[in-house]
Amino acid sequence: MKVYGREYPADYDVIVIGSGIGGLFCANLLAQAGLRVLIIEQHYVLGGYCSTFRRKKFIFDAATHFYPLLGNPSTFPGKLLNKLGISTEWIKMDPVDKFHFPDGETFVVPADFSLYLRRLKDRFPHQATQIDRFFAEVREAYLYGLLYYFRDIPNEKAEKYRFCTVEEKLLEHFQDPKLRAYLIADHSHWGSLPSRTSFLFDSTLRLAYFLGNYYPRGGSQVFADALGDSLKQKGGHVLLCSAVQRILIEQGRAVGVAVQPRFGHSKESVAFRAPVVVSNADMVQTYRRLIGEEHCGRAVIDGLMQLRPSIPCFITHMGLKKLPRQVMESIEGYYWTSWDPEDLIRTFFKVFFTTLLDASVAPPNHDILIIQKWNAVEYDKVVNWREVKQETEHYIMGQLRRILPGIDNHIVIQLSAAANTSYQYTLNHQGAMLGWEMSPEQLGSLRPANETAIQNLYLVGHWTQPGGGIVPVIVSAQRVADRILTGRSKAASCAGSFEHEPPDLSRHEIKEGKGYE
Ligand SMILES: Cc1cc2nc3c(=O)[nH]c(=O)nc-3n(C[C@H](O)[C@H](O)[C@H](O)COP(=O)(O)OP(=O)(O)OC[C@H]3O[C@@H](n4cnc5c(N)ncnc54)[C@H](O)[C@@H]3O)c2cc1C
Repeated sequence: MKVYGREYPADYDVIVIGSGIGGLFCANLLAQAGLRVLIIEQHYVLGGYCSTFRRKKFIFDAATHFYPLLGNPSTFPGKLLNKLGISTEWIKMDPVDKFHFPDGETFVVPADFSLYLRRLKDRFPHQATQIDRFFAEVREAYLYGLLYYFRDIPNEKAEKYRFCTVEEKLLEHFQDPKLRAYLIADHSHWGSLPSRTSFLFDSTLRLAYFLGNYYPRGGSQVFADALGDSLKQKGGHVLLCSAVQRILIEQGRAVGVAVQPRFGHSKESVAFRAPVVVSNADMVQTYRRLIGEEHCGRAVIDGLMQLRPSIPCFITHMGLKKLPRQVMESIEGYYWTSWDPEDLIRTFFKVFFTTLLDASVAPPNHDILIIQKWNAVEYDKVVNWREVKQETEHYIMGQLRRILPGIDNHIVIQLSAAANTSYQYTLNHQGAMLGWEMSPEQLGSLRPANETAIQNLYLVGHWTQPGGGIVPVIVSAQRVADRILTGRSKAASCAGSFEHEPPDLSRHEIKEGKGYE
């Protein structure tokens, strides 16, 4: 079958819809096991939220720039990259983050956990005991949460924390709003308020920070393309600029997809057949349009529409004439304009210089500045996105001029993306940052499963279990690949009881791959 002048077989063993990190990992694992895999992507580049775009020789990360664990070979994502032969070069972030508070104080988060704890206690010496107690709980939640969400192993300890939110746990341990703010100053990366974010799920990432956070040298596209190249080397095929219109379903089984090439003369739909289909596309689209009510039933779609998506992000990308390194280092980070976490919705913003980590993404003597801010709009009610964009950009520029006077003289190029831009390029429902919000009632078995009611149709990515963010979507990919390869259903692969040795919590350090090995 010819698409864009290239010949493709009409039949595959597995078809993967969408080339987000979830789709790319799943496709690679299946191809590595010898299956004939086709991945179909509607955009003209791979990667979904992990892609880049170029303007005036600047390489801008479209969304993600923070890759936890991937450069650490003792963690399971690091081991997986080795197993797949992905040779991306990872740059370790240290410090990991910087926070700017309303009283003018700043706090730098180092990559080492004991140093972090020490700095926190130095800043809040009267609350050192409470800090220790809090982190003892976080450590427990981290280890048992990993078993629960990432390995599908129910356990009593995780059950204990399962319905707690981050805010509840902070209020339980600390009376000082300042200290609470210090502990959640980077919380916007969840795309949900602390009052709506699971403490158990948050803990799995909170400590992973100290196992290494990385940036792929050359930008996110280098990583996504390495996964694409690796798939091709394993015999898989990649079809870009082609949107899947329908999942073909016969007698309750997925049997292939109908695809619409987006460019060229012939826009006729083509069909590929495969006994297994994996969707990495947004879940609302997958059920409403690709499967259709006639196959999944109205109740499933109504159920999905009751779930809450994570908050989308507004991103301003800037190419700048060179700035002094100390200036960039001093202003980088998360900005809190009040101590009230609810204000995250309105006023928080994050400043990030990609070139501090990797100068190769900008032309010589230039820098890249990325500013992120939540774009908490009622998506379906927005009539004029241009206005939303202008208003938000106005706010961002006002803040930026305050913290970096004279910035205007450095700007070579400036572009902004609102929630509708995220939707346009990835088709993620309402431009959500991380799929469904990671609230306690939307995680674990309460989050839509990787398996569907349609036989041999699976879901990977941030809309399904275990949740959003790079590491969880890799877990979803691994889980689905395992189920396809072994033929085991979730019921069979889930241990159902506490079979593993309980983790050893006697050591306080979070080192090497501990928990994530
Ligand atoms: C601004 C922003 C910053 C973020 N920063 C971080 C971060 O620093 N660290 C982190 O861990 N996480 C971050 N995240 C979250 C993380 O990027 C996502 O959770 C993760 O990348 C989602 O991966 P995914 O596999 O679900 O696929 P997605 O990235 O959602 O990709 C889905 C793909 O499917 C394609 N597709 C959809 N429909 C079709 C169709 N019908 N036919 C063909 N193709 C289709 C899309 O074009 C897209 O390429 C961020 C998210 C945003 C928005």
